Amino acid sequence: MSNQQTKTDVILIGAGIMSATLGSMLKELVPDWTITVFERRAGAGEESSNEWNNAGTGHSSLCELNYTVEGPDGSIDISKAVKVNEEYQFSKQFWSYLVNSKRIQNPRDFIVAVPHMSFVQGETDVAFLKKRYEALSENPLFQGMEFSDDPEQLMKWIPLMMKERRIEQPIAATRIESGTDVNFGALTRMLFDHLESNQTDIRFKHQVEDITRARDGSWDLKVQNLDKGTTSHHSAKFVFIGGGGGSLHLLQKSGIPEGKGIGGFPVSGLFMVCQKPDIVAKHHAKVYGKAAVGAPPMSVPHLDTRVIDQKESLFFGPFAGFSPKFLKFGSMFDLITSVKPGNLTTMLAAGAKNLQLTKYLIGQVMLSKEQRIEALREFVPDAKSEDWDLVVAGQRVQIIKDTAAGKGTLQFGTEVISSADGSIAALLGASPGASTAVSVMLEVIIKCFPQQIKAWESKIKEMIPSYGATLLDNPKLIQDIHTLTDRSLGLTNEAGEYETQKHAFTS
Ligand SMILES: Cc1cc2nc3c(=O)[nH]c(=O)nc-3n(C[C@H](O)[C@H](O)[C@H](O)COP(=O)(O)OP(=O)(O)OC[C@H]3O[C@@H](n4cnc5c(N)ncnc54)[C@H](O)[C@@H]3O)c2cc1C
Repeated sequence: MSNQQTKTDVILIGAGIMSATLGSMLKELVPDWTITVFERRAGAGEESSNEWNNAGTGHSSLCELNYTVEGPDGSIDISKAVKVNEEYQFSKQFWSYLVNSKRIQNPRDFIVAVPHMSFVQGETDVAFLKKRYEALSENPLFQGMEFSDDPEQLMKWIPLMMKERRIEQPIAATRIESGTDVNFGALTRMLFDHLESNQTDIRFKHQVEDITRARDGSWDLKVQNLDKGTTSHHSAKFVFIGGGGGSLHLLQKSGIPEGKGIGGFPVSGLFMVCQKPDIVAKHHAKVYGKAAVGAPPMSVPHLDTRVIDQKESLFFGPFAGFSPKFLKFGSMFDLITSVKPGNLTTMLAAGAKNLQLTKYLIGQVMLSKEQRIEALREFVPDAKSEDWDLVVAGQRVQIIKDTAAGKGTLQFGTEVISSADGSIAALLGASPGASTAVSVMLEVIIKCFPQQIKAWESKIKEMIPSYGATLLDNPKLIQDIHTLTDRSLGLTNEAGEYETQKHAFTS
């Protein structure tokens, strides 16, 4: 057992998309800062950020119905949809900057254009979708969205879903070509490769066991080398806890008051995956439906074209479920060990309030493959069990805290928790997730480096041209950003057409 001490400017815990993004931004802003990364797995992007563990949707509210809420007066509130879309534009701009400045190579290895669609059935939901379409299509961020309730048109857009469908009630869909499928796993690995070639010390199979405050205000990390079984100590002036589901335990270990009273509720995920070329070729879109009554928002069913290692496949799901683990490769004791005196009453209140949800999630875990195929048949009426495999996805740990809505409230968003002096920050929660990594990590930078932010502003604007501007007030800027990022990321061709067109179905 060794007790070696190292000192760096920055320590990033976890090698997922969040640490990859923060590390990449800091490298651009202050190239001479030293950065060390500790990751318990053998490589980068093996937990939620891995391409097989998430749905790869570039969330920009083009298809997710839960981002637009219908009010009691029937009006549609699009404020959340606008926010998520603007956040995604930050990601696209930063990725374009990385491609244009040759920090990362071929963008097609991590992002492709795939139309985003919403699909509903029944009079009420069709009326909702039409109103949603009318509210969004007036907005420059959602330009190019189409609506149809004509089965012939739908047959052209989604032949796999329309073939063999018995149309006994109204159906409708919206479609927009500027949607994306993102391989967040590949992007994470590309970003860490670039960081490693730029003097970043990345240590895989190293698990952070403890975080304590040193007398000089810096942080001391106790780290276990999982291969050798040795323990070492490392200190840094700034620590980012990017442990995904593992972040809550680490935040609790840091002992910062801002982390007290917060709990976590793990939700597991499962996809059905089809890799049969003849079936895959009949569908080219990400099609989001409506969540079943009682289901949490993260289990909205969708049928997605995915492009992983240049190969197309179809993902259906995710089926949410309950598991006490906080990470896919975590421990069955994660939930119980996250209950501390500081969050005990919050957790008890949440437990009492969410009995129905827990029951629903346990019920989902128990579903047989045939029952899951039945759910899939809502989307693909002639789906056959032998064409689809079950794949275990990542874990999502939702935040539980006391809010104005009451004690032990379950939150479905993400939240940056940082110490008052900005020397440590953690990211909790899981949605909208990886798509908004750039905007969330920018929030970490703004919160934790207030003294430097003025000096960094011009570099931030070079990386993210819309930084500081509200896109909605500036339709010309939206247009310029779409044109610039879509071209840089290879989503459009020279004529400005989305590259999805080659897949468009015509019969
Ligand atoms: C089923 C599912 C579907 C999703 N779909 C989408 C989607 O379509 N679009 C989207 O944008 N987002 C989606 N998400 C969310 C997205 O995947 C996550 O928000 C994102 O990957 C989180 O990145 P991260 O870096 O915070 O965490 P992770 O990728 O989980 O990385 C955290 C890393 O920290 C490491 N770690 C943990 N504890 C320690 C420790 N003590 N010491 C060292 N290392 C540690 C872990 O091993 C892991 O590698 C989905 C998630 C799930 C589960």
